[in-house]
Amino acid sequence: MAGKKIETETAEAFGRVFVKGNIPEINPVRCMGCGHCAVLCKKLGPNVLEIKDGLAKVIRPENCIGDGACMLACPTKAIFLMSKYSPGSPPSAV
Ligand code: SF4
Repeated sequence: MAGKKIETETAEAFGRVFVKGNIPEINPVRCMGCGHCAVLCKKLGPNVLEIKDGLAKVIRPENCIGDGACMLACPTKAIFLMSKYSPGSPPSAV
């Protein structure tokens, strides 16, 4: 059976290998701008998120390793999905 070959970029962090290419989708209705996600992401290294105009925003998508730490840090479940990062076309929820 012929399969589709998928090219992946990986990142090593915390003694594990993560598949890169996805970024968090932030629900602007649920986000209360507390910054827990951004603080944790910065502390861990990738530093993908920042609070802008009272909401979490993906500022450095190329840094995202897809570890999902931001999802766990969010008290309101505003970050519920990771979606494919395409340079030049940010996800609709961002
Ligand atoms: S942790 Fe959740 S509520 Fe707080 S800024 Fe991040 S996305 Fe918004």
